[in-house]
Amino acid sequence: MTLTGKMLIGRQPLCGTREAIRAINPATHTPMEPAYAGGERQQVEQACALAWAAFDSYRETTLADRATFLDTIAERIEALGDELIERASAETGLPRPRIQGERARTCGQLRTFARCVRAGEWLDVRVDTAQPERQPMARPDLRQRHIPLGPVAVFGASNFPLAFSVAGGDTASALAAGCPVIVKAHGAHPGTSELVGRAVAQAVNDCGLPEGVFSLLYGSGHEVGITLVSDPRIKAVGFTGSRSGGMALTQAAQARPEPIPVYAEMSSINPVYLFPAALHARGEALAQGFVASLTQGAGQFCTNPGLVIAVQGAALDRFVNRVSELLPRSPAQTMLTAGIFSAYAEGVEALTRHARLVAQGQAAQGPNQGQAHLFLASADAFLGNAHLQAEVFGATSLVVACADEEQVRRVSEHLEGQLTATLHLDEDDLVPARTLLPVLERKAGRLLVNGWPTGVEVCDAMVHGGPFPATSDSRSTSVGTAAILRFLRPVCYQDFPDSLLPTALQHSNPLLLRRLLDGQREA
Ligand code: NAP
Repeated sequence: MTLTGKMLIGRQPLCGTREAIRAINPATHTPMEPAYAGGERQQVEQACALAWAAFDSYRETTLADRATFLDTIAERIEALGDELIERASAETGLPRPRIQGERARTCGQLRTFARCVRAGEWLDVRVDTAQPERQPMARPDLRQRHIPLGPVAVFGASNFPLAFSVAGGDTASALAAGCPVIVKAHGAHPGTSELVGRAVAQAVNDCGLPEGVFSLLYGSGHEVGITLVSDPRIKAVGFTGSRSGGMALTQAAQARPEPIPVYAEMSSINPVYLFPAALHARGEALAQGFVASLTQGAGQFCTNPGLVIAVQGAALDRFVNRVSELLPRSPAQTMLTAGIFSAYAEGVEALTRHARLVAQGQAAQGPNQGQAHLFLASADAFLGNAHLQAEVFGATSLVVACADEEQVRRVSEHLEGQLTATLHLDEDDLVPARTLLPVLERKAGRLLVNGWPTGVEVCDAMVHGGPFPATSDSRSTSVGTAAILRFLRPVCYQDFPDSLLPTALQHSNPLLLRRLLDGQREA
């Protein structure tokens, strides 16, 4: 497929008029063809008009038809074959096997949402039948279902060019909910975005859906993004990226005459707790597992273990010493963009000023290569210095040595909101772990025992979210089928004649949904 450098406004490919974005291969620092001229207000306007026009018919598609659409997107992405793998790898510096794995995850995610749509549980049908004889007042017939919010703006993430980008989790969950989607492509992988965007547009066509169900916009300098979020036809936003970007979009959404929800996944340092018995019994294995998790994908994961918390002593010293032996064997790795590399270098520089550098990975051999780092600080220093809690996006972590369990608790209370908190523990650690758990539940969206936070399963029970600044809305997840709930709202129908009710709520339950009927869950 020849890349065109054009946006997709519904089914129409359109060239922008603003300054062009060009992918830059971060491994070689060379620009790639074609140029993607940025959009402006007019194209945002057109995409929003089409999305709004498509909304009412798209949201009324049957569960089967909508699920087929999601399955078709997955098929169309797979049909792109090696071209997608090559382009995504060149644009991001991520190795081919990683991109192949990410494609499988992306298509699996679309199919998981297809299964979720078919099952219809997300409609959350509740029926309270009329009780005309009830005293002192009759009860009306009340029926509730969820409906989609409306067109959704999705901002593709730089660090997952497939799974959190054009047809990633935000798009899949919004389409599953019945919302048209307008994607603002990430400037780091415009060619990958075009390939996937065209696959989605083909699926729209294959399934006979209105063209406004999907559009893809390009643009740098924030104009397209802010215009999109400010458009009155956009009813929700999905975003993964920097804290400043997420906050700017949240503020734009709140400043509208009609404010809308922004689901921004922004910043997390993912504390890892090494409890004494576990640290004593398996310090070597913990050091190896930690280094593998820290350096995976150049550390460019929102779940990267950026903080290690433990009680000081010989066992922690052995762990730090072992990591200090292992880390110098880790090669520097190409980061996603020159901007992300320089932000990483600045973050490392800041930590160098506030904590003790104890180990480094191998030095860079080429452009934009991030070198791994391990820092050490006392709990007192951590409690007194906000710099030590800032996310350094890359393979850098800070060990915080605490005087005792009480100081572990104080450090934990001091933490900002997190996507994850990990507990490495043995039987003898259960008491202090149980004591800490209420704090961690308040701080994080996912709590893990004896694992590593990198690697986020796409499934029904997953929570990839957490209190601010991990996300802008701690009540939601951006991964897993519960992500669909972000784009829905409940509507109640009171005393409707059956013929006027939506199919999901009709008396005969034609969709065979497991309803909550008069307080009882149907089998
Ligand atoms: P980013 O700068 O936040 O950009 C992500 C998207 O948001 C881009 O499409 C960007 O559009 C848009 N955007 C950013 N600031 C905006 C603003 N003020 N107004 C409107 N739109 C805005 O993220 P990035 O480029 O991927 O990486 C930058 C840093 O983000 C990294 O160094 C890292 O610290 C962090 N990051 C965190 C995660 C995570 O999962 N926690 C993931 C990726 C990145 P424009 O092209 O117009 O800027």
